[in-house]
Amino acid sequence: MPHVPAGARAVFFDAVGTLLFPEPGALVVYAETARRHGLALSPGAVRERFVAAYRLEEDADAAGGWVTSETRERDRWRRIVTDTLAGVSNPEACFGHLFDHFAGPRAWRVAPDAAEVLAALSGRGLLLGLGSNYDDRLWSVLAGFPELAPVRDRVLISSAVGVRKPGAAFFHAAARAANCDVSEVLFVGDDLGNDYVGATAAGMPAVLLDPHGSYPEVPQQITRLTELL
Ligand SMILES: [Mg+2]
Repeated sequence: MPHVPAGARAVFFDAVGTLLFPEPGALVVYAETARRHGLALSPGAVRERFVAAYRLEEDADAAGGWVTSETRERDRWRRIVTDTLAGVSNPEACFGHLFDHFAGPRAWRVAPDAAEVLAALSGRGLLLGLGSNYDDRLWSVLAGFPELAPVRDRVLISSAVGVRKPGAAFFHAAARAANCDVSEVLFVGDDLGNDYVGATAAGMPAVLLDPHGSYPEVPQQITRLTELL
């Protein structure tokens, strides 16, 4: 089944969880940071705390109409780290370490099929881009991955746009960046609410990357990026 609609002129990808993955995993990095600051936490405990802290920030952003900024992103991550690692000897040092860690390409790996898929879509004449709720650090991460060069001309980062996914304004900004109508862009991402529901509600066709088949009810979904081809 073709997942790129016939009328598509551009394809935008989510970054984290779609093209880029933390390596080692974020929970492992958080647990190790906690350990070095005097707090023993199992990865399961880290996950539970992280999910709760993350959800609070999602709720705050929803209440604020999905408005964001670099300051908001930094504050958001400071609170998530502080809540997740509550009990460490130096929370601000942990935040600084983790914030810097995830700013470097060595903390990440690129999806193994990304290069092939981006080259093939670009070869079909499609404009490619990145639409991410990550912050300014995405630039320093991208600098380490020549495989992602095909998306680099159209990188939309919510903290720079001023509105984050799933806000409709974010997807409209992506369409403008490609000089396309919103209906002519396909959005590919792994987050049901932020990517798939957000894009489709804004009038942009979307495909959910759902590697474990968690959302069988979603009509447009793939388990691997190569299924776009
Ligand atoms: Mg994602």
